[in-house]
Amino acid sequence: MFESDQHLQSFYIDGEWRQASDQCLRQAVINPANGEVSGYIALAGEAEVDAAIEAAQRAFPLFASTSREQRLELLENICRIYERRLDDIAAAISLEMGAPLEALSRPLQAPAGLWHFQTAKAVLENFAFQRRQGSTEVVREPIGVCALITPWNWPMNQLVCKVAPALAVGCSIVLKPSQNSPYSATILAEILDEAGVPRGVFNMLNGQGAKLGEQLASDPRIDMVSFTGSNGVGAQLSRAAASTIKRVSLELGGKSANLILDDADLEQAVTQGVRSMMSNSGQTCIAPSRMLVPATQLERAEAIAAAVCAELGLGDPFVGSTEVGPIAHQRQFDSVQRLIALGMTEGARLVCGGLGKPQGLERGLFCKPTVFSAVDNRMTIAREEIFGPVLCLIPYHDLDEAIAIANDSIYGLSGYVQSASAERARAVALRLRTGSVHLNGASIDLTAPFGGYKQSGNGREWGEAGFEEFLETKAILGCI
Ligand code: NAD
Repeated sequence: MFESDQHLQSFYIDGEWRQASDQCLRQAVINPANGEVSGYIALAGEAEVDAAIEAAQRAFPLFASTSREQRLELLENICRIYERRLDDIAAAISLEMGAPLEALSRPLQAPAGLWHFQTAKAVLENFAFQRRQGSTEVVREPIGVCALITPWNWPMNQLVCKVAPALAVGCSIVLKPSQNSPYSATILAEILDEAGVPRGVFNMLNGQGAKLGEQLASDPRIDMVSFTGSNGVGAQLSRAAASTIKRVSLELGGKSANLILDDADLEQAVTQGVRSMMSNSGQTCIAPSRMLVPATQLERAEAIAAAVCAELGLGDPFVGSTEVGPIAHQRQFDSVQRLIALGMTEGARLVCGGLGKPQGLERGLFCKPTVFSAVDNRMTIAREEIFGPVLCLIPYHDLDEAIAIANDSIYGLSGYVQSASAERARAVALRLRTGSVHLNGASIDLTAPFGGYKQSGNGREWGEAGFEEFLETKAILGCI
């Protein structure tokens, strides 16, 4: 899977793999499908973070002055090598966080990174770094040294949707991936090394979030922090970054509503909504976790949802027929179980699933696909991001009420509308306070801006919007 197993005991700093010292802590990587240790990683400390920042700072001026053509060539190399490593990446993701290999890691989780690199290359080809406004020239320049901090749920997607645009515009990088998904990140470092990313431009350290995050966010040599993860950590990072006034771009949690309008094909809409919710074991920030159903159709929706859940193939991520794997790690599993228990005490109707592990899958961190119905939007299970295979069916009586329920959330990441009328669906989309809205099962678009309203964050990634994140704007006045 790796070019060298030694890379897990090393940090990628200043263009080379530096062996971790004896002082560095080690952490076991647990396979969530069976509880076994699949490997060990070294955790960086203060000295390694300092060396990575120094290398990135040293490398920045030269890399920032490279031409568009040079960076296009670099991205081309990266895409070629990434394509060759797709199988390694897919296996790494399935092993580290449990995504089913054939259903998810191969077709989506692994190639998502390649698609972001390809998109960045396509955007770079025509991106306007200069424009004239009378006698003023407006120039877009790379912001500088960027600390990228990412989660484990779509590990390669989250890494590359930051790394690709940062490299494309000429920034240097210190990347801290999640300790729960170190394998895919290690392969990414191997790819960038082989592709010839100049020394110091890309640095990668595994390590404990709280320690490394605080140091990265507060260091004055870091110009920007780009973070994807939970709201609590996003707020902590913002506080740590405040005294050095750096840009902090946040991609946080979600509690997305899926509005099934009264004219929608209920069977199709519920089936698709349930499958999309349960995919990746519900560990997707834009998962449609609140399904809003006309009250008169609630019972039918429950029956459809239960039937879909009963058919889902749960099991070992490496078995070809598996559709839903385990929860990625113990803390997340415990949190999902706690919220399922809470849903039951809050008075929601349990349609299927519930507490405990499915029969025959007790060794891994498997959760039963769970559907609650007659959920009141004020219940905790409708307000908190569960980040597990748990769906809330919420009844509504008219469209205004449905939209009010959808918008009654601290989050605003994504939304979904199902209707027989594309026009009606679009009109509803315009009334939702979310960063994206998917109409009638539309899948993601990697070139469209991705990010949240309200407490789902303040950044926009992917495509051209992803470039804007990593750029400064300079006005040169008095040009002739
Ligand atoms: P997390 O916040 O626990 O961790 C994310 C990253 O932050 C990890 O690298 C972790 O090591 C690091 N970290 C942890 N504590 C830290 C601290 N005190 N200071 C600095 N860094 C710290 O999140 P997670 O459990 O890895 O991921 C799940 C969360 O991510 C969910 O809330 C999900 O919605 C969110 N997410 C959002 C998006 C989006 O684009 N909006 C995408 C994927 C996931």
